[in-house]
Amino acid sequence: MTSIRPLPKLRATDPDRNPSRRDLLLGDFSTTTACNARCLGCYTNAGLLARSERDRYSRRFLSESDWLQLLDELIPYIRTLVLSGLGDATFQNWPMNQRIMDHSLRNDVQVLLFTNGLTMNDAMADWIAERKGITIIGKWLHTEPLENQALLGLPKHRTEDYDKRDGLYLPRHLTLLMDRGLQADNRLAVASTMLKWNHSVAPVQWRWLRERNVIPIFSWLVPTPGMGRMAKFELHQDLEPSEKERLTRECWQIDQELGIQWDYCMGPKISASGCKDDRLLYFGPIGDVRVCPSSHDTPQAFWPDQSVEEVIAIKSSQESVLGGIRNSIEGKATCICSTLCANQHSGCSMSSSPEVNVIQITKNS
Ligand code: SF4
Repeated sequence: MTSIRPLPKLRATDPDRNPSRRDLLLGDFSTTTACNARCLGCYTNAGLLARSERDRYSRRFLSESDWLQLLDELIPYIRTLVLSGLGDATFQNWPMNQRIMDHSLRNDVQVLLFTNGLTMNDAMADWIAERKGITIIGKWLHTEPLENQALLGLPKHRTEDYDKRDGLYLPRHLTLLMDRGLQADNRLAVASTMLKWNHSVAPVQWRWLRERNVIPIFSWLVPTPGMGRMAKFELHQDLEPSEKERLTRECWQIDQELGIQWDYCMGPKISASGCKDDRLLYFGPIGDVRVCPSSHDTPQAFWPDQSVEEVIAIKSSQESVLGGIRNSIEGKATCICSTLCANQHSGCSMSSSPEVNVIQITKNS
């Protein structure tokens, strides 16, 4: 008989693992928007944003000492530092990002690190594994290497980037991290954007990951102004509501079989972002403060022109606007940064549960 297991929570955002009065905000640093991939559905347009934004606002990119100073200001407020909402944090600025992460950990702030894994090697995997306060979100878009490579926007399939495990080809960064046991401590998650191109393999990936205690964080395509020349094709790749519902149900059924409990009440409109953005404080490469990493609106503030305290006050004063946006979002949404449902469904136990991460319904990265 299958034993009932609680829904695995990412270590970095698990309040039970990381009790703290600093639970007001997640800090999200994009020290770079540069990326070595060109994923289908990348809302950042893969790094094209930063230079134009720097010139548009006549700013400069923050230096390492700037980031560390900003982090010192932020630490009293945050429990988790997210690196990075844009670009690949393990590609550009890696030595600097290492120092930022170590500084966070020394100050009892957990780290949630996003990567597409393309630069992951043994040394990097060792470094991450040694630091228990780092949780990592990798990327796996397809079970076939050629398809995975194409979805990442990379020109060629390179066989050395994949390992065959239990009949499936996995990107090398996942096997490097799994071989070091990160999944045993809920420190390893895998992101995918489910599109017409790859949705048929999503349940296969979901089951494979769940059975090995890796947390799947799968999202739909979220059209944003950041989409560039690929936009039309990307939108064509968006799934129909019925396909989204079917996928949700399949993933839910897999979890039921495995004894992982969550309420199926998402319905067919599961596509919306449910970021509870009042808990996320995003800083981009020029010190730009935005609602979320994918926002292309005028920044709400610039650090260091405004202090962190002032930024929080600005954000709080805009809460009514943000609340309105959230309330207009249809469908069930869970997300690593909030996980509170955008719409409170009557009778749904998840809607009152503050920390679940079943499927990340937020901007893909
Ligand atoms: S989705 Fe992420 S990994 Fe892919 S191109 Fe965009 S920033 Fe890079």
